[in-house]
Amino acid sequence: MADYDVIIIGSGPGGYVCAIRCAQLGLKTACVEGRDTLGGTCLNVGCIPSKAMLHASEMYHEATTHFDTMGIVGGSPKIDLTKMQAYKQSTVDTNTKGIEFLFKKNKITWLKGWGKITAPGEVTVGDETHKARNIVIATGSEASPLKGVEIDEKMIVTSTGALELTKIPKKLAIIGAGVIGLELGSVYARLGSEVTVLEYLDQITPGMDLEVCKSFQKMLTKQGLTFVLGAAVQGVEKMKAKAKVSYTLRKDDSAQSLDADIVLVATGRRPFTDNLGLSDIGVKMTERGQVAIDDHWRTNIENIYAIGDAVVGPMLAHKAEDEGMAVAETIAGQHGHVNYGVIPGVIYTAPEVASVGQTEEQLKEAGRAYKVGKFSFMGNARAKSHFMGDGFVKLLADKETDRILGCHVIGPMAGDLIHEVCVAMEFGASAEDLARTCHAHPTFSEAMREAALACGDGAIHA
Ligand SMILES: Cc1cc2nc3c(=O)[nH]c(=O)nc-3n(C[C@H](O)[C@H](O)[C@H](O)COP(=O)(O)OP(=O)(O)OC[C@H]3O[C@@H](n4cnc5c(N)ncnc54)[C@H](O)[C@@H]3O)c2cc1C
Repeated sequence: MADYDVIIIGSGPGGYVCAIRCAQLGLKTACVEGRDTLGGTCLNVGCIPSKAMLHASEMYHEATTHFDTMGIVGGSPKIDLTKMQAYKQSTVDTNTKGIEFLFKKNKITWLKGWGKITAPGEVTVGDETHKARNIVIATGSEASPLKGVEIDEKMIVTSTGALELTKIPKKLAIIGAGVIGLELGSVYARLGSEVTVLEYLDQITPGMDLEVCKSFQKMLTKQGLTFVLGAAVQGVEKMKAKAKVSYTLRKDDSAQSLDADIVLVATGRRPFTDNLGLSDIGVKMTERGQVAIDDHWRTNIENIYAIGDAVVGPMLAHKAEDEGMAVAETIAGQHGHVNYGVIPGVIYTAPEVASVGQTEEQLKEAGRAYKVGKFSFMGNARAKSHFMGDGFVKLLADKETDRILGCHVIGPMAGDLIHEVCVAMEFGASAEDLARTCHAHPTFSEAMREAALACGDGAIHA
């Protein structure tokens, strides 16, 4: 007799969402979590704390730049980092407790401790072994190490340490111009740090639509971030009060160095499956250290599934959530499905950057005939009145059929705006469908409609 229909290992957005959906579908469910709180990387040390710090620092920036123009006058605000950290922590706490509440509400058992799959259908947590008809691996990811760099989470930090700093660094060096590096770089630049980003490649945020990428880099540079592209970091040396980053410039192989109070290593993340017992029971892994799965998230061992950052695909909370729901439905005998062609990606800087579907470069490479509808936020009344006219919407549609193929937005609320295109794409909509949909005035979303109009007879306010 199994103790549970499903045991999920890991309570991040993949694991906890899977657990809730399993319970809703009538399955007896347990979730193993080794941390003291539920919610995984996302709620504890990822999405949520980083967005709290982005919000707080953006409010400070607003207060010191635009308040006076809008007639809000008075003494200029100062930063109390301890208080800001307390605000961040309270945001984390309410969210992690919220998941605990949802577990109780849905009668999900939280098995506290680190789980190990000791045999198919068997999970051991501490001294106890639990039988399960199905097991879902949702153990997430950890920061990738960088050769020659030893992390101490004080002076040489990953994102986890960068979110816990007790002093605003005078000089912050960031290795890696990906999403995490740029979001945290924005936070500290707004709080007054001198931020230098070292990136191995010749562009920031690889994979992003190139036109958006170029605008994004310009805007961040205007905000005070310095970029050194084509920089191959060789090592970081810890000195008394500073760290020294050594790197070579790929274009001429010249040796360079940079001093910083804090060095943030943000070179990506890798799946975390340590001490899970996977090799002992013969679970296949990919060359990149991910748990190998088929199209239905099944590993090579019957009734063991895997989802989220531990498997192939973009390391995003909402991708993990969708897979969590789909696996629960599959286990319950339904037809779980994830449309990997419509997974939005968002960078929560100011302005935000958001995208879904294909980039112009991908369409060119595929030889697909397409058209581009572009609209600048300068033509959007709401954006202009909020000092947010920088940026644009770029909608890509099939040249013949007008079907939407992708959308790339840099501008205010881009992370929210992108979802109307996600819905449109799920319904196989054309740019004209979007253009003929009435959008309330004055809203930022009118820029989306204008971009869709630009795919046809032309935008109105361009
Ligand atoms: C700084 C930062 C900012 C981010 N911002 C965003 C963002 O804005 N939007 C976004 O979509 N994504 C963001 N991400 C990525 C996002 O956090 C991950 O994609 C997401 O958390 C993956 O979910 P998951 O469920 O696969 O794993 P995780 O959230 O990593 O959760 C896995 C959980 O499993 C537990 N676990 C592991 N092994 C065991 C075991 N053997 N026994 C018991 N428990 C175990 C871990 O303790 C952990 O709690 C960010 C990440 C970072 C680091």
